[in-house]
Amino acid sequence: MAPATDDPVAVALDELRAEAEACEKCLLSATRTRVVFGEGDPHSDLMFVGEAPGYHEDQQGRPFVGQAGKLLEQLLQTIGLSREQVYIANVLKSRPPNNRDPKPEEIAACEPYLVRQVEIIAPRVVCTLGNFATKLLSGSQTGITRVHGIPQRTHVGGRELYLYPIFHPAAALYTPAMLETLKQDVLRLPEVLGLPLGGDVPTDEAADAPVAPRADPPVRRPIVLPTLAAAPEPTAPLEPAAPALEPKPPQVQPPAPAQPPAPAQPPASPRPPAPGGPAEQLGLF
Ligand code: SF4
Repeated sequence: MAPATDDPVAVALDELRAEAEACEKCLLSATRTRVVFGEGDPHSDLMFVGEAPGYHEDQQGRPFVGQAGKLLEQLLQTIGLSREQVYIANVLKSRPPNNRDPKPEEIAACEPYLVRQVEIIAPRVVCTLGNFATKLLSGSQTGITRVHGIPQRTHVGGRELYLYPIFHPAAALYTPAMLETLKQDVLRLPEVLGLPLGGDVPTDEAADAPVAPRADPPVRRPIVLPTLAAAPEPTAPLEPAAPALEPKPPQVQPPAPAQPPAPAQPPASPRPPAPGGPAEQLGLF
């Protein structure tokens, strides 16, 4: 049967998607509802990589469709982009039961799909969301709290690009300070997208060049970012999600705070904060 498109990038992604949708390389194939391959503009210069599908993603077969996805869309709006203008994928294409952390063997089994996605899409910037994607693609065990907001020039597969780690939106939903940091890191994305790569023509030569200097792929359409000053205001304020908006996944519920051990505390005294918020328990930072 003839392909639905003659766009070689879209064809290559479709072939890889079909392969992933039939994948049984790890045990997650037995418990998933749908494979969540990824979606967006296959010619975008900007790709986001999260951790793994959650409940809603597993049901719909699309990445970032819950509250974290809404926050990601709001963050993109702050730099004048929509989710349709970027490509969004995850480290794992199948949902871990009860949203538990991915296992090393699952990450190892699924990594070739992600690497191939990067090779096909060839983004200038891969924005890793949280610890799992950052550690996998950087090859370093340094946590997201230390590397967020710092572009790393590297290679993924055969592609030179900038890795730009930021906090996972799911973690920022429950931690206002982290949300503010995430917003600031996202605001630097236009700057990161403008950083030079080895295949770029030097500035003096580029001034005479009528077309974009990158040779791969020929149908590439670099996204045009507005300046930060011209970026439109987000349609909604970036506030932490109210718990009533959407039930949190079971594993992100904070544990019941420990009661003071003895009645020595007067009844009106506030309890000390419980150690570790929901975001920490997610293992996302
Ligand atoms: S998580 Fe990845 S490797 Fe495991 S079954 Fe799904 S697609 Fe295959």
